[in-house]
Amino acid sequence: DRFISPAPKQGEDWQDRAIRPKTLADYVGQQPVREQMEIFIQAAKKRQATTNQPEALDHTLVFGPPGLGKTTLANIIANEMGVNIRTTSGPVLERAGDLAALLTNLEPMDVLFIDEIHRLSPAVEEVLYPAMEDYQLDIMIGEGPAARSIKLDLPPFTLIGATTRAGLLTSPLRDRFGIVQRLEFYNVKDLTHIVTRSATLLGVQIEEQGAFEIARRSRGTPRIANRLLRRVRDFAEVRHDGQISGVVAEQALDMLNVDREGFDHMDRRLLLTMIEHFSGGPVGVDSMAAAISEERDTIEDVLEPYLIQQGFIIRTARGRMATDRAYQHFGLEKPAAG
Ligand code: ADP
Repeated sequence: DRFISPAPKQGEDWQDRAIRPKTLADYVGQQPVREQMEIFIQAAKKRQATTNQPEALDHTLVFGPPGLGKTTLANIIANEMGVNIRTTSGPVLERAGDLAALLTNLEPMDVLFIDEIHRLSPAVEEVLYPAMEDYQLDIMIGEGPAARSIKLDLPPFTLIGATTRAGLLTSPLRDRFGIVQRLEFYNVKDLTHIVTRSATLLGVQIEEQGAFEIARRSRGTPRIANRLLRRVRDFAEVRHDGQISGVVAEQALDMLNVDREGFDHMDRRLLLTMIEHFSGGPVGVDSMAAAISEERDTIEDVLEPYLIQQGFIIRTARGRMATDRAYQHFGLEKPAAG
């Protein structure tokens, strides 16, 4: 249960409703994604207006580490298209019938958002193919000799799938998305903007330096930035006059054990284990997982991406290696090669 886990904490998504951007204009950063989606959305709307044939936006796959704004983007797309969004996730859709029920309830042009789409079962994925390709539902009902297949026409709809890594999808599924967007970690400037925006919406007084201090410890992740803002606000209200200055933010974040790079005990343990137990690597991800008693997936999806992006770890053909920067972070000397 990490304080800076990029996954939502209980109730957090609900609390976030007030600060979650609703339009592309409010979606901070991710410039190329925003620009492209703006064009695709406008084009689809234009064609809807000029032809009598209703046309939905192409199916869109959004991938990137947790907390970067995949769900937010899906909701924005639906909002900008002026349609409803139905939300579900890969593990929730256990049987083909679960997906069929959702699909047959869609209105023309609606968005169906499937989070963690890489976790769909093969049987459910099978139903998705003709639905995506031809807006056809093709499903078996019943079992044994009484089983029969039914075919139904579906309204045109847009599937938006979200996943942490595009490589997790089967290629037939990936190939059926007309639009693929990759979300990147946010830079400190964009995160400062997000923190300032959220503070305004929450009625929190914050100085530029305070927003900057929160931003740079947020691991490039808006969900973490907003969470840190809430905790720093608590600290500012109890220990100070409620105003978040640079110093107040620094004290609060130090107290929460989030260091200057935005690392917590888990990151430090991962890096130190790599340095101290594996001489800085190269070490395979499974050996690392065993050494720190973590799931391989947690390392690959949650811990490692930011450390790699920031240049603390590199991935080589023979495994992961700690970089000079990792040694410097702990004030350690990197042993000479050889
Ligand atoms: P994901 O689906 O990728 O895990 P979410 O879309 O749930 O991430 O985003 C987490 C939170 O971060 C949202 O509640 C939202 O407030 C904030 N957020 C995400 N992307 C942005 C953005 N581009 N600009 C401002 N806030 C954002």
